[in-house]
Amino acid sequence: MPADTSPLVFKRRIELAETGAKTMILATDLDGTFLGGSAENRSRLYQLINAHPGIRLVFVTGRGLEAVMPLLSDPSIPEPEFIICDVGATVVDGSTLQPVSELLEEIEELWPGEIAIVEAMARFETIKRQEVPQARRCSWYCDPDAVTDEIRKVADELGCDLLYSAGYYLDFLPKGTNKGATLARLIDYMGEHIDDVLTAGDTLNDLSMLDGRFKGVCVGDSEGGLLEATNKSARVLHAEEPGCGGILEAMSHFGFLGPRGVAHEGQDSAKPGTSDLVMVYHRLPYEEVRERGKVRRQPHSSPNGILPTLLSFFADGTRGAWIAWSIDDGTEEPFVTHTSVDNAAYPNLICSRVALSKDDVDIFYKRFSKEAFWPMLHTFWERAEFREEHWEVFCDVNRKFAEKAAEEAAHGALVWIHDYNLWMVPAYLRERRPDLRIAFFHHTHFPSADIFNVVPWRREIVGSLLQCDYVGFHIPRQVENFVDVVRGVVPFKVQERQNCAPRFLTYGCAAGLGEMTVEIETDQRTIRLGANPVGLDIERMKQALASRAAQKQTRLLQDELGSERRVILSVERLDYTKGVLQKLVAYERLLEQHPELHNDVTLVIICVPAAREIKVYRDLIADIEQAVGRINGRFAQVGWTPVNYYYRGFPLQQLVSFYERADVMWITPLRDGLNLVAKEYVATQGLSHCMGRLVLSEFTGAAAELHGALLTNPHDTQDLVERCYQALIMPPNEASTRMRELFDIVSYYDIRRWGEEFIANARYVDQSRAEPVADALELA
Ligand code: UDP
Repeated sequence: MPADTSPLVFKRRIELAETGAKTMILATDLDGTFLGGSAENRSRLYQLINAHPGIRLVFVTGRGLEAVMPLLSDPSIPEPEFIICDVGATVVDGSTLQPVSELLEEIEELWPGEIAIVEAMARFETIKRQEVPQARRCSWYCDPDAVTDEIRKVADELGCDLLYSAGYYLDFLPKGTNKGATLARLIDYMGEHIDDVLTAGDTLNDLSMLDGRFKGVCVGDSEGGLLEATNKSARVLHAEEPGCGGILEAMSHFGFLGPRGVAHEGQDSAKPGTSDLVMVYHRLPYEEVRERGKVRRQPHSSPNGILPTLLSFFADGTRGAWIAWSIDDGTEEPFVTHTSVDNAAYPNLICSRVALSKDDVDIFYKRFSKEAFWPMLHTFWERAEFREEHWEVFCDVNRKFAEKAAEEAAHGALVWIHDYNLWMVPAYLRERRPDLRIAFFHHTHFPSADIFNVVPWRREIVGSLLQCDYVGFHIPRQVENFVDVVRGVVPFKVQERQNCAPRFLTYGCAAGLGEMTVEIETDQRTIRLGANPVGLDIERMKQALASRAAQKQTRLLQDELGSERRVILSVERLDYTKGVLQKLVAYERLLEQHPELHNDVTLVIICVPAAREIKVYRDLIADIEQAVGRINGRFAQVGWTPVNYYYRGFPLQQLVSFYERADVMWITPLRDGLNLVAKEYVATQGLSHCMGRLVLSEFTGAAAELHGALLTNPHDTQDLVERCYQALIMPPNEASTRMRELFDIVSYYDIRRWGEEFIANARYVDQSRAEPVADALELA
C-alpha cells in the first residue's frame, strides 16, 4: 500500500502538483556522504533540496535512530521524508519518527534478538562491541583478519547476515536485511519507480544500494572495496567530489530534475549586500513618533546604555545595517524599508525596517516572548504558557529578520543578533548565507537544562543557536547551562575550557563557577562561547549626576527624608522575578528583630510599572501594596514612614539622586540575567566618593562579577534580614574598601569594553584549525 498520509509527503505532493516539478528520490547514506564534502557543496545541495518540491529525501544510514535525531535538530539539514537506519533494520517516517510497521514486521520476525547474539559472541574476547544506540542490529569493532569462519558460523546458526565495512565495522543483521533491500521495499511503499531513485554512499555497507538496481553514486574518497565492487556497473557513477559535491555531480550526470534543475536552483542563495557589520536588534536605533498618518524619527527619549554603544561601532565609517521591526499598519504609504540613522555620526549606517503588523508585534514581542520564554528563562517555568500558533508567528517574524540580514550583509560580514526574541534568526540566516560570521548575545538569564527542556521547541532553538560562530552570555554559569542543554540535543566535543577566576566569582555564590567551556565542536561547525556581562556607560552616569534634574531631585529627597535617617533603597521593574515581596517580608522581620532601627531607617521602593497589564502583575501589585500597608500600619510613628513606595519610573537623571542618597542598596531578585541597577548604584556612589553598601542577590548575573558586594539569598528570609542588617552596621573602613573594589570593576568593565570584547570574540578564528572534523561522530 503506498504511503501518502504523512503531512510532509502531503505538502510535497501538493507543491509538486502546483509546480509540475519532476520527482526524484534521493536515498543517501549520511556520514561521509550527505554530511560530507565542502561546506559550500553541502549548503548548495541542502538548499537545492529545500527549494525543490520534486526531491523526496530518504536517509539510509548505519546509525541508530537516536544517533540520527541530533541531525533533525540542525536547521541547515533538510528534513527527510523517511529514514532507514540500523543498516536497513529500521524504517521510520522522517517527521513523526514513528516506525513504518508494514516494512518492519518482516525484519522483526527474522531477528533473533540482541541478547542471543551478544551471548554467542561473548567468547570472541578480542573484538569490542560498538557502544552506539541500535535496534535489530548488533555491531562490533574488528580488524579484517578477526572476521573468522567461526564468527560466520555463529551468524549462520542464529540466522543472521554478517556485514563487514570500512575495514572496521562488523554487523549482525536479520537475514536478507541491508540498506538496498529495505530501500527497494520502501520505494514500492512510497509508490515511486525505481528509475527515479538516486542512491549515494561511500563505504561497503552502501554496496547493497549501489549494486546496479538503482542509479547510484560512490562519492569522492569512497572506500576502495566499494569502488572495486561497483566498477563495472554503468548505473553507478564514481564521482570526483566527496560528499554532497559527489551527489550534485551525479544529479547532473543522470539528468535528474531536467537539464536546468541542478545548475539553476542550487544557486538560489541570497546575493550579498554591502554591510560589513549588521546589528539585528528588536529596537530601532531611533524612536518613531506617529502623528496624523506620518512617521517622524527622533532620538530615543529613554535610551538604554546599550543602544549608543552598539551605534558607536559605526562611528568610524563602517558600512553597516541595523535591522529592527516597525509597525506597518497601512498609515505609511508605501512602507519605507530603508532609512538613514544619523548621517553625520554614522555616515554609512542604514536602518532596514522589518514590517510587522500590530498583531504580529503583539504575539511575537509582547505576548509570546513574555508569556512563554520570559518565565521559563528566569526559572519560573510553571508560569510559562506555550502555544504552537504563537510559535509559528515567532518563527515567521524571525524569518523576516533573517531575510533582511541576508540581504544587507556583505560577503563574510559579521551579523550580531540580540536576545531570545530572535532565537531562530541564526537558522534562517545560515541557510541563506553560509559565508557569514554569526554572533548571538543573550541579554537575559539562561536556565539549566532541567528547566530549558520544558520548551516544546528546544531542539529547533538549540539547532538554530548552533548555526552561530559565537554565542555570548552575561556570566559563566549561563554559558555552562547552555552547554548542558546542547548536550541533550546533539553530540559535540568540548574543545576548550577556561578558568573563570579572577574576573568572576567561583565557589560559594549561586551564580559562581570555577571553569567554563569556551569552544565546542559539532559535526557541522565550531562554536565559540563566552561570558560578556553588559557594562555601564560611565560618561552617561556622570552627565546624569551633573544634570539640573538630579540636583533638583536631591533637594526634594533632602526635604522628604532629612539627612539623619538612613535610607535602604530598592529599585526594580514590577516583575515576580525581582523578589520585591520577599524583600518586604524580610524588612518587616528586620523591624521586628531590631527595634533600634525604628525611626532610624526608611525603605524606599521604586517599582517601575510593567509595560503590559497582565493578571500576574495585577496580583503582584496588590500583594506588594498590601505588604507596604501592613508594615506602615504596624510600625509608623509620627514623622516616620517605614516604607516609601513609588509605583512609577524615574528618568536616570532623577534616579541617580536616589542612588546617591541611599546608604544601603538592597537588590533581591529571585533570578536576574545581570542587574544593571546594581552597577548604576556602584557607579553613582563611586563617582560621588560615597561609600554606600551594596546587598545583592546571589541569583543575579551581576553577583558573579561584583566582588565586594554583600551577597544574599532571597529565598531565605532570615538571610535577607541578616545581610541587610550587616550592611547597616558595617564599619566605614570596610564599606569604603568594598565600594572601591566595586567601583574599580564597574568603571573598568564598562559598556565600551563589553562591546569590543564581544566583537573580538565573535571575530576570533583559530588559524590552526581548518574545516571541522566529523570523525568522532562517524558511525557508518
Ligand atoms: N530604571 C529607570 N527608571 C527607574 C527604575 C529603573 O530608568 O525608575 C532603569 C535603570 O536605570 C536600569 C533599568 O531600568 O538601567 C533596569 O535594568 P536592570 O538590568 O536592573 O533590570 P531589567 O529591568 O533589565 O530586568
